[in-house]
Amino acid sequence: MLGNYTRSADALVEQLKASGVQDKKVLQVIKDTPRHLFIDDVLKHKAYENTALPIGNGQTISQPFIVAKMTEILRQVGVKGKVLEIGTGSGYQSAVLAQVFEQVFSVERIKSLQWQAKRRLHQLDLYNVSMKHGDGWQGWQTKGPFSGIIVTAAAKTVPQALLEQLENDGALLVPIGEEEQVLTLVVRKGEQFVEHKMAPVRFVPLIAGEISL
Ligand code: SAH
Repeated sequence: MLGNYTRSADALVEQLKASGVQDKKVLQVIKDTPRHLFIDDVLKHKAYENTALPIGNGQTISQPFIVAKMTEILRQVGVKGKVLEIGTGSGYQSAVLAQVFEQVFSVERIKSLQWQAKRRLHQLDLYNVSMKHGDGWQGWQTKGPFSGIIVTAAAKTVPQALLEQLENDGALLVPIGEEEQVLTLVVRKGEQFVEHKMAPVRFVPLIAGEISL
């Protein structure tokens, strides 16, 4: 599937290992996922560099390291079954999640991005991802509760609806902040929510409110 890009994908995986990603399943999935299919033609030559890249509409495809790390964290805390992603963007993180978890749901507020992402996943025969155009602050209530929720844009505060859509022992991974952001893990224990600060990160903002695009 990767064709000429195989060697670059191998090099990327070596880099991720050197940066501390250890989960063999996650590394294998990164190796198998053709990231160049999620990127515009003019930037394809950078597809296997460990960097975020523009995908149009002022948005970015996340850095492979952060995609791998967030997926690894979800597995480490025992997430399995249904996972909700907020911020589909290019669909790359969704494609990775689809190969690691049973069922993936993903919400994106920009219709054209959601549409392209859907097409890419079908092209890769990944049919266990459901996508919706909507406001991620609201989650996806009718499909919940979820074992894991991953937000790939930075929120000013932890979105309340997402906490409510977590199943017991479920985990939410969300970058919190504006200029300074901290990747935050929230684990549900009954009606208690236990918060852990993981690492400084840099994401585009999770836009609040109505969908305009
Ligand atoms: N996971 C993506 C990263 C995309 S960047 C990838 O791998 O490519 C973050 C995405 O979040 C953008 O596409 C942006 O449009 C989307 N986003 C921002 N605010 C949102 C909201 N309130 N609801 C849903 N999506 C949102």
